[in-house]
Amino acid sequence: PNKILAITMNPSVDISYPIDHLQLDTVNRVSNVTKTAGGKGLNVARVVYQLQEPVSTSGVLGGTIGTFISQQLADIGLQEQFLHIPQESRNCIAILHDDGQQTEVLEAGPTLTADQQVEFMDHFDQLLNEVSLVTISGSLPRGFAVDLYADMVEAAAKKDVKVILDSSGASLAAGISKEHKPLLIKPNQEEIAQLVGRKLNDLADLQHVLLNEEVFGGLEWVVVSLGKDGALAKVGQELYRVTIPKINVVNPVGSGDSTVAGLAVGINRHESVPDVLKTAMTTGMLNTMEKETGHIDPTLFDEYFAKVSVEKIN
Ligand code: ATP
Repeated sequence: PNKILAITMNPSVDISYPIDHLQLDTVNRVSNVTKTAGGKGLNVARVVYQLQEPVSTSGVLGGTIGTFISQQLADIGLQEQFLHIPQESRNCIAILHDDGQQTEVLEAGPTLTADQQVEFMDHFDQLLNEVSLVTISGSLPRGFAVDLYADMVEAAAKKDVKVILDSSGASLAAGISKEHKPLLIKPNQEEIAQLVGRKLNDLADLQHVLLNEEVFGGLEWVVVSLGKDGALAKVGQELYRVTIPKINVVNPVGSGDSTVAGLAVGINRHESVPDVLKTAMTTGMLNTMEKETGHIDPTLFDEYFAKVSVEKIN
């Protein structure tokens, strides 16, 4: 197989309410509403799809909100292989108000029963037969044990399927602590600090931690994205500093997910290490240049790819 599977365990319908002035304890009316299928893995899948690499999406969804998400994926031609459950998927509401303020109301989403958790793992195990690489992004719905991602990594390893894990907190820590490891993790500096249990001082400190801390030992790829400063990556025992040009940022939300999409595509295409990193920085940058989250203009890819530089630093 030669297909990427992008997992979102707790997808949402993201609702945006633009309101000039938000008033508390009274009625606010809104006319210009947008509702879109949301979730970090869905952002990954959209960008992979835009790069014309075979891709499918999975995770758990349900209820009428699940049907809406499913329909939106079908509308853009993205293959949907979610486990469907009776409980409702969630809405996530962002109220954009008062000159640039953003107030969010995020539902927790469904709580899965023990049987549904087993059902999901069986479902995932089946999907693994059709793919070469899996991306796992975001947080877990309630009900799942914290080591679900570790179990998914193990199931993938048994079928020789590569895994990119982009999570945080306990599920990331659990996901990299077992015998079978993901091929790649893409923590930001905050997540690195969580994993090593202390704040990092500077780039030199980050380099030191990547090469010497035991948590990163068994991981082939650790790609630390640094926003406008590009990225620092450990691949095997080599360190790479990736620098990017200055660009005009329109909306940076989802650039981490777009970076994961680029890493997945580069690795799935067996690109060289520097080219995988360049592909990932390019998709990250192109996402920040678009209004829509998890979206790039593929016609600009070659131009920006050429502007990224990768330097081995050890
Ligand atoms: P997210 O907010 O999506 O979780 P993250 O913290 O995981 O993001 P970032 O490091 O902010 O990820 O961004 C990922 C990549 O996107 C960067 O490595 C870079 O290529 C691109 N990018 C993000 N912000 C900017 C920016 N201001 N200018 C240029 N490129 C950017």
